[in-house]
Amino acid sequence: MKRLFRNPLAVLFAILVGTSSTRADLHVASLSTVTTDLAKQIGGNHVMVNGIIKPGIDPHEFEPTPGDVRKVADANLVLLTGKGMEGYLTKLEEAAGGSAKFVNTGKDISSLTMTEREKKVEDPHWWHSVENMKEAARMVAQSFAKADPSNAASYDKNESAYLSKLDELERWIRVKLAELPHDRRKLVTSHDALGYFARDYGFTIYPVKGVSTAEDPSSQHVKEIIGVIKERGVKAIFFENIENPRAVQQIADETGAKAGGSLYSDGLGETEGNTYDSMMRHNVSAIVEGLK
Ligand SMILES: [Zn+2]
Repeated sequence: MKRLFRNPLAVLFAILVGTSSTRADLHVASLSTVTTDLAKQIGGNHVMVNGIIKPGIDPHEFEPTPGDVRKVADANLVLLTGKGMEGYLTKLEEAAGGSAKFVNTGKDISSLTMTEREKKVEDPHWWHSVENMKEAARMVAQSFAKADPSNAASYDKNESAYLSKLDELERWIRVKLAELPHDRRKLVTSHDALGYFARDYGFTIYPVKGVSTAEDPSSQHVKEIIGVIKERGVKAIFFENIENPRAVQQIADETGAKAGGSLYSDGLGETEGNTYDSMMRHNVSAIVEGLK
């Protein structure tokens, strides 16, 4: 092998063949940046992943284009996060012609509920809990093994390695959060995306918006948030990577709380925070630095 790669043409050939999509055994389309990363972690080089929702796109507002429908129709498996996040799902399934198999990675994860427009709905942002991410990793590995049994051993091995990585992440988060006393664990964010994180680590959330990003906050609600921040001495409030930061900035100005930087709420980043692991580390670091 070593000698082969001394030849520059052989290197070029290897690169071309290695990146050719036809070489992948399993073609996966993904409707969330979180499941795109998960598919890469579990699939390794047996899987070609087509991320339909890219970093920075708001999944609450997303509508698939005809090109996206084609990508879904061409895939063996389509990963989604579920719990109501993909409001367009039925239409997409019909438009894609029913041959792709949809894998709802949030299906077996127990839901938190929240109120949106006076209705109880499932909180779709389950990946902010590392435990939930482990459950999704197991489901993705199983669905890959079922769809492509010849590489089942490889998916199984990748799953074990990834679960260990998530254990390590969980340990890192607990050590980092130990810097933050419990009475400082109050989060003001631009929409209510961190409920599962709050449950796992003992935070209280005061969202400026509700569960979705679709509605602008009423002035009454903004007033309430300002009251909470002043009354409870919240040190910092946070922006989100895809939200309009104006309302958050206004609240920061009126309360003197500092703007604690940007959190990844609805998906991964483009460069920084471009894996689940680095996204979680970014969020936890920003929260601890902002509130301590
Ligand atoms: Zn969201």
